[in-house]
Amino acid sequence: MMGLRQILASRVSDPLLWKVVKRYPVLDRLSEWRECQWDGAPALEARQMRALGALLGHALARVPYYAERVPGLTPDGAASAPDASLAVFPVLEKRDLILHADSLTCEMDRGSYWNLTGGSTGEPVRFLQDRVYQTCALATTMLFYEWGGVPHGASHIKLWGAPRDLGSGSVARRRRVADWLFNRITLDAFDMSERTMRRYAETIARTRPTCLEGYADALYELAVRVERFDLPMNAPGAIVSSAGTLLPRMRESIERAFGTEVFDRYGTREVGNVAAECDRHEGLHIFGETTVLEVVDEDGRAVGEGEEGEILVTNLHNYTMPLIRYRIGDRAVRGADRCSCGRAYPLLARVVGRSESCVRRRDGGVVLPEFFIHVIGVEYNDGSIGKFQVVQEALDRITVVIVPSEGAGERALARENEIRARIQQMVGDCEISFVLADRIDPTPTGKHMYVISNVRGSDNCHA
Ligand SMILES: [Zn+2]
Repeated sequence: MMGLRQILASRVSDPLLWKVVKRYPVLDRLSEWRECQWDGAPALEARQMRALGALLGHALARVPYYAERVPGLTPDGAASAPDASLAVFPVLEKRDLILHADSLTCEMDRGSYWNLTGGSTGEPVRFLQDRVYQTCALATTMLFYEWGGVPHGASHIKLWGAPRDLGSGSVARRRRVADWLFNRITLDAFDMSERTMRRYAETIARTRPTCLEGYADALYELAVRVERFDLPMNAPGAIVSSAGTLLPRMRESIERAFGTEVFDRYGTREVGNVAAECDRHEGLHIFGETTVLEVVDEDGRAVGEGEEGEILVTNLHNYTMPLIRYRIGDRAVRGADRCSCGRAYPLLARVVGRSESCVRRRDGGVVLPEFFIHVIGVEYNDGSIGKFQVVQEALDRITVVIVPSEGAGERALARENEIRARIQQMVGDCEISFVLADRIDPTPTGKHMYVISNVRGSDNCHA
């Protein structure tokens, strides 16, 4: 039975926000996609190729960066043969977003805004997004909940990173009102001391939400405490792991501790949520209404089913700064083309993640890698921090290595004291030194890790 607050959230709060206040057709998109997700593969592909053709045509006609780099192709040519044309487009790197920010954008009346990510690889980038993009991104996220059996407006606990000022004053009051109207509770995933984790477990057990959502690491760390201290738990309806890498043993641990299924999801701030599991768990459906996702080998050729490669992603709706064949920095194993659920969106078997460490606190709690992305990459970054790495040498000793952006030099350390204070606030009493470097070497396995903890004997996130 639908609870009162679910009715309020789905029939009043959401329509009021999106239709009346923002005037974004998010809910129209959602109903459209609820229907067309069951179309056969030929219809899905035809629709995706039409959208791709339109995007490529637009990029060649209106975005100088692409016009210069794909000279042999005309907008009409790209629109009529989108698949073959896409292969001619160069791979877009993160540094291109920094070096060519101006020529990658296009003046349009689409309510554009700059967005910033601390970078899932420890490389902060800035990019322009617009109203149409955001509408599609929000509708996608709503549809993905439904794939996990979570209906629109259902009760929801979100274990998520909170900005600094969330805990106090008018911001906190506004957030509480919004949480009530939208039938959700937000728990601060940046505050994961042993004590707060116990409180989070109690809140989940008491409210028993239809959906518990969080960073993979946050859910896992909480699951470990629930089992270790035998904390009382009532199973949420479903768990959505929506950022970070969910390793198989993390999934097992979370499902055991909370007594319910985990639905994995893949997305990034640059392109939104792009793939998610349905109730069959046969892989993550790549959502073709918004995205073309390629998995390629070192030579840029598509890999076959069951093979691993690098992800290149093309978002079909963000015309003010088209990200075409964008190398997001993640790898994945290509899955089957079909799933037994009947949706014809092809599958990623799994995303092969980076494995970052959690920083350990003295009280047994943790600080998630996402906290450092947020603080160093976003909150205190004016663009001068090009890349960073946090190394915890001992419980009371942390080194922050910073590679300045081009030409920034020592300016990259301008807010060192504020960053130090913020980290100390979360980690507890510890000595934090900052080092400027020209580059950060990858680990012996060739990966760039932006958070490394050398504290032994702790229950490491990915050990
Ligand atoms: Zn499916």
